Amino acid sequence: MKLIDLSLTIDNCCMTCGTPWHQEVAVERMGTVADVGRNTSRLLLGSHTATHMDAPLHFFEEGYGIDEVALSDCVGAVSCIDFTAKKAGETVTLEDVRKLGVTRRMLFAFGWHRNWKTPRYYKQFPYFSTEAVRFLLDGGMRFMALDTPSPDDGSAIQKVGGEGDSPNHKLLLSHGVVLVEYLTRTDEIDFGKNHKIIALPLKLKGVDGSPARVVLEEE
Ligand SMILES: [Zn+2]
Repeated sequence: MKLIDLSLTIDNCCMTCGTPWHQEVAVERMGTVADVGRNTSRLLLGSHTATHMDAPLHFFEEGYGIDEVALSDCVGAVSCIDFTAKKAGETVTLEDVRKLGVTRRMLFAFGWHRNWKTPRYYKQFPYFSTEAVRFLLDGGMRFMALDTPSPDDGSAIQKVGGEGDSPNHKLLLSHGVVLVEYLTRTDEIDFGKNHKIIALPLKLKGVDGSPARVVLEEE
């Protein structure tokens, strides 16, 4: 069985997108073997730290939290799509997704994880046109995983809170699609093979998202 761990490592130099509403990571030792006979730690994490899953509550006050995401959507056969030809700032168009067979779970690999921990990571990552997202939704996609920070246009950050802010997030989450962001190691995927994905968030009651361990099994 070949497993690829698509999760980023959480450590004290984990990047965040720099906005004040995302927590910087701090992993701190509390007890030590020398002092109290055991090591224990305190974890200061954001709900969107490293490889993570978004819940509808991320954008909708009336949406459900990460503890209510359907695990049946998070585990099972996944279509891995090779979008590594997409360049920085390029859009996934309706034409691009029309060529695909839309399935329940889809993973889109841009190779963007190679920019993790560089200043490029949050700048001009490839993103989806809203027409493309609507097509995937209409085709029955219930789970979407990406190796970029977002399915939305990252250069549109000036629209925060406004009408044009994060239209793809809103479209996906309002339809209950499970959204996984910040995958890594997608360059190790053999796109000619069949895959199964396991993406599990922490069971955090009424929280808008959670770090997730995401593993791909090659069949
Ligand atoms: Zn998120």
